Amino acid sequence: ANGVIIVGAGHAGFQLAASLRQGGFAERIVLLNDEGHLPYQRPPLSKAYLKGTGGPDSLMFRPEKFYHDNRIELITDRAHTVDRNARKVALASGTSLDYGHLVFATGARNRLLDIPNAKLDAVRYLRTLDESEALREVVKPGMRVVVIGAGFIGLEFAATARGKGLEVDVVELASRVMARAVTAEISEFSQSRHTAAGIRIHLGVQVTGIEADGAKVTGVSLSNGTHIPTDLVVVGVGVLPNVELAAEAGLPVASGIIVDEHLSTADPDISAIGDCALYASRRSGGSLRLESVQNATDHARCVAARLTGKTEVYDGLPWFWSDQGPDKLQMAGLTTGYDRVVVRGDRAQGAFSAFCYKGDRLLGIESVNRAGDHMFGRRLLGAGGSITPEQAADPGFDLKSALR
Ligand code: FAD
Repeated sequence: ANGVIIVGAGHAGFQLAASLRQGGFAERIVLLNDEGHLPYQRPPLSKAYLKGTGGPDSLMFRPEKFYHDNRIELITDRAHTVDRNARKVALASGTSLDYGHLVFATGARNRLLDIPNAKLDAVRYLRTLDESEALREVVKPGMRVVVIGAGFIGLEFAATARGKGLEVDVVELASRVMARAVTAEISEFSQSRHTAAGIRIHLGVQVTGIEADGAKVTGVSLSNGTHIPTDLVVVGVGVLPNVELAAEAGLPVASGIIVDEHLSTADPDISAIGDCALYASRRSGGSLRLESVQNATDHARCVAARLTGKTEVYDGLPWFWSDQGPDKLQMAGLTTGYDRVVVRGDRAQGAFSAFCYKGDRLLGIESVNRAGDHMFGRRLLGAGGSITPEQAADPGFDLKSALR
C-alpha cells in the first residue's frame, strides 16, 4: 500500500489530509476519527461556543461533502495497535488497514484530578465538543463554580462563566496565573482584570479535597485550610499527550512521541504531528512539544510537503492566542529563557505588549489588546529579525520600519 493513514482527526490530522490533497497527493488517505463529530475546531470550546448558542456545525472545519469530494476516507474508529513489520493498523472495531505512511496525530487528553470524589458528575473537564456542550447546558446564573488551574483554558472558562452570571473561584498552585506560559507582566494584568470582573483568584494553594453530599458536590477544601462552597468544579490542570499507541509499537517516546526536525519518528514510515509530538526544534535548539493550533497545522503542512516530495525542516514560528473576557492575549515566538522584558504600550489603558529579550536578542512578544504588535512579531521573528530593547521601549519608534 502507498496510502497514508492518519490517526486522529483533530487540528493536525484534518490539516494533513487537506494539505495532502491540495499538494497533489493521489494515493489513498484514511483519517481515523474517534470522536462522534465531523472534525472540529477546539479553541471556541472554552470561548464563543461555551458562551453562545451555536450548534456543533459552527465548529466544523468542513462539511461532510468535503471529505467525499477530496477522497478523504473519514472513518469513525480508533487505532488499537500498530504492527510496523506488517505495516498494518488494527482498529478497535476489529478490521485492519495497510499503510504506506502512518501519521500519529493523536493529540492529548485531560490530566485527571486524582483525589476522592473527583469522579462525581459535577466535576468537569473541557477538551472535547461533548464536554463543552455538556458544560454549556449545566451552567446557570447564580450557580457557584470552582475552577482548578489558572492556565489558558481555566481562565477562559472562568471569564465566560462569570459573564454568564456565575460565582467563580479560581484555584492555582503557582504564585501567578498562566505562570508557565507568560511573563509576570501579563499575569499581573490578567489577574487584575479577572478580579475586577468579580472572579476570586486563590494563588499558591492546592485543592486537597472535594466535599459531597451523596452524589452532589458541596464544596472544595484548599491546602491553606480555606473551604469554598460550590455546585460545580471545572478542572483545567493540563493535558497528557497520547503517546501510548506509538510506545506500544516500539517507537521512542518521552514527554511526547519523539520526532526529528522533519517530524519523522525513528521509523521513516511513521511521523507524528501536533500536540502529541516532541520535535527537534532548530529555533529553540532543543526538543519542543507545543499545544497550539499553529503548531498542529504547520506540522501538518510540513509532513504533507514531505509526502508530496518537498522535504523541508520544520521551523514554524510558534504563535498563540487566548480570549479572556474582553481581553485578547496573543503571543508570537517562544519567550522561555528571557532575561529582560520591555513593555510597549499602556498598561493602564489595557493595551500593551511585553517584548521578551535574551541579551539584545528578541525572543518573543506577548500582547494584550495590541494586535498590531502581535502581527509585527510574527513577521519580524518569522523572518529571523530583531529590534533592540531601546527601539521596543520607544513609543516613537515605527515598528514597520524594522520590516523593510
Ligand atoms: P487534538 O485536537 O487533540 O486531536 C487529536 C485527535 O486524535 C482527537 O480527536 C483524539 O480523540 C484522537 N485520537 C487519539 N488517539 C486516537 C486513536 N488511537 N485513534 C483514533 N483517534 C485518536 N490553541 C490555540 O492555538 N489557541 C487557542 O485559543 C486554543 N484554545 C483551546 C481551547 C480548548 C478548550 C482546548 C481543549 C484547546 C485549545 N487550544 C488552543 C489548543 C489546540 O486546540 C490544540 O493544540 C490542537 O487541538 C492540537 O491539535 P491535534 O490535532 O494535535 O490534537
